[in-house]
Amino acid sequence: MHPLLNRILRGEPRAVARALTLIDNNAPDKRALLESLYTYSGKVQVVGFTGSPGAGKSTLVDKMIDFVRKQGLRVGVLAVDPSSPFSGGALLGDRVRMTKHSTDPGVYIRSVGSRGGLGGIGKSTREMLYVLEASGCDVIFLETVGVGQAELDVMQVADSVVLVLTPGAGDDVQTAKAGIMEIAHLFLVNKRDLPGSDTLIQELRLMLHEKTLLRENWLPPIVSAKAVAGEGMEELWQALTRHYEHLHESGFWEQRRRNRHRDETLKLVDAALSEYVRKRAKEDTEWKRILEEDLSQDPYQSAENILTNFPWKQL
Ligand code: GDP
Repeated sequence: MHPLLNRILRGEPRAVARALTLIDNNAPDKRALLESLYTYSGKVQVVGFTGSPGAGKSTLVDKMIDFVRKQGLRVGVLAVDPSSPFSGGALLGDRVRMTKHSTDPGVYIRSVGSRGGLGGIGKSTREMLYVLEASGCDVIFLETVGVGQAELDVMQVADSVVLVLTPGAGDDVQTAKAGIMEIAHLFLVNKRDLPGSDTLIQELRLMLHEKTLLRENWLPPIVSAKAVAGEGMEELWQALTRHYEHLHESGFWEQRRRNRHRDETLKLVDAALSEYVRKRAKEDTEWKRILEEDLSQDPYQSAENILTNFPWKQL
C-alpha cells in the first residue's frame, strides 16, 4: 500500500496535491500509487467540457463548481491544455476560478500540461482521475483548451462529454470540427443572451434529427445557458444526471469499464514489449546480425526468424 493512500482516502488536500504531482513528474513510486488507487476507481462520473476557445468553458466550469458545492458535493477539476508544457499551477492556474476556489476544501483543481508526452496526455489525465476519485470527489470536471486531436483524446476519458457552442462565433453546426459532434453526449448552447442562439438551437435540433446522433442508445439533449450569470446550471446538472443514470441502467457503464481495463492493460503490454524489442535490437548480437547484416533475407523472413526464437521468458 502506498504511504499516501490513507490520506488521499480521507481527502486531505495536501496528500491529493502531492499524489497529482507525483503522477505529473512520473515519479518512481507512481506505479505503486496507481496500484493502490485502482480499487477505488470506476464509480464517479467524469464530465468533459470541450468547445472552441472563448465559448465560455472556463466560466461554465466555474459556475458549475458553485452549483455542485451548493448541493454539498465535492468536486475535482482537471484543466487540460495539451499545447502547454506546464502543469500544476502555471497558466491555467492563473485563471480566476483557480484562486477563487483554492481555499475551499471541497474543490480540487489542477491543470495538466503535456509534459514529455510519455504515453500522451490522455494517459496522465486518466491517472490523475484515479487520485481524484479515491479522494472522495462526487463528480469530476475535465476541461480542455481548444478543439483538436489531443482534446478528442482527452475527451475519450470522460463519461459524459459536454460540447459548448455559442451563437455567432463561426461556431455553427456546419463549421464544427470533424469528429466533435459525434463525441458529445450533451450540447450546451452558451451565451443565450446573444442574438442567434435560437437559430443555433434550431440547427442543432435539425442535425440531431438528420444525423440521428444516437450513440449508446442516447440522443444528446440540448441545454441553453448564460454561464456568465450562472443561468442554466441546474438544467445542465439534471441532464448530466440523466446521462449518468442512463449509462448505468443500459449497462454501458460496465461495458466502458471493461473496455478501459482492456485498453489500459494492452497499452502496458505493448509498451513493455516494444521497449524490450528496441533494447534487444541494440544489444543482442544475433538480432543485430538478422536485422542489419543478413540482407539475403527479406524483412518478413527476418521478422519471422526473430519471432520463432523470441525469448518470452526474459521479458
Ligand atoms: P473559454 O475560452 O471557453 O474557457 O471561455 P471563457 O470562459 O474564458 O469565456 C470567454 C468570454 O465569454 C469571457 O469574456 C466570458 O465572460 C464570456 N462569457 C461566458 N459566458 C457568457 C454568457 O453566457 N454570455 C455572454 N454574453 N458572455 C459570456
